[in-house]
Amino acid sequence: MTPISFLSRACPVCASTSARAEASSDQRAEDLSLDQLRPYWSGLFKKKVFFSYDRCAACGVLFAPTYFSDEQLEQLYADMAPNMEVVPTASLEATQRGYWDVTAGTAPLDGGYLEIGPDVGYIVRLAVAEARFDHYWLFEPNGAVHGALAQAAGNAPHDISLEMNDLSIVPDRSVGLAVMVHVLDHLLDPRAMLERIRVKLKPGGVLMIVTHNEASLLRKLMASRWPPFCLQHPELYSPASIKTLVRRAAYQKVEVQRSVNYFPIDFMVRQAAYTVGIDLGKIPLPKAALGLKLGNMITLAHV
Ligand SMILES: [Zn+2]
Repeated sequence: MTPISFLSRACPVCASTSARAEASSDQRAEDLSLDQLRPYWSGLFKKKVFFSYDRCAACGVLFAPTYFSDEQLEQLYADMAPNMEVVPTASLEATQRGYWDVTAGTAPLDGGYLEIGPDVGYIVRLAVAEARFDHYWLFEPNGAVHGALAQAAGNAPHDISLEMNDLSIVPDRSVGLAVMVHVLDHLLDPRAMLERIRVKLKPGGVLMIVTHNEASLLRKLMASRWPPFCLQHPELYSPASIKTLVRRAAYQKVEVQRSVNYFPIDFMVRQAAYTVGIDLGKIPLPKAALGLKLGNMITLAHV
């Protein structure tokens, strides 16, 4: 039985209510209460619990038809410790450098720069050093990282806001590049976000989106143990379904590439062992980094 406190959703891309069940955890989130789910949300319990994912019969997006409401999400994110990073920073920086290099080869690097959820500003720092944007519009709901973010923007003209849904401070048709790294698949209404950003892009402007790829080999190998199946993702995309979403938000052209993620080898081996149910604990492993096209993708949407 589903507790009535959770939200019942139609497909967030096309609003269809026709869908087939596809992925569930042994203990399903929709069978627990909000209070029972809190420790799972903050990663206190190792056991995997997520809201079951269905595949929309009309547009093919994978989404959770039962999920937290906006109010519940606000509470949960507010309680979350900032910067829960599993991957060490050098690998994270190399991964973000890869996102920037792909984007810089496609997007106009002038006009405004807009980012939703920039965290401490990994990509902002690269953009300030290597491009000539006239203003940085940074929408970051986690106030704990605003100091670090301001440092990343340095002397470049910038505005940092706690807001994510109201972009009205940004002039319409002024932005050359908009960026969302691991944000879109956390949103209850991803299409509305894409539409809000679209009106801010200048002619020729580009929106760069990084998401997990649910059609990846890693997902097939790991099945329901695939890490992006979790309480934080109300929907997950494949190259096909994200193209559908972007086109429905009225962008003119869209391309999708698999992205390279850099992992320390010891981290990879521990993850692989965990996948088959072995916990390597404190056993020492080599520290070198490895670039892999794993479970992520970069989407470039043109107005
Ligand atoms: Zn749909």
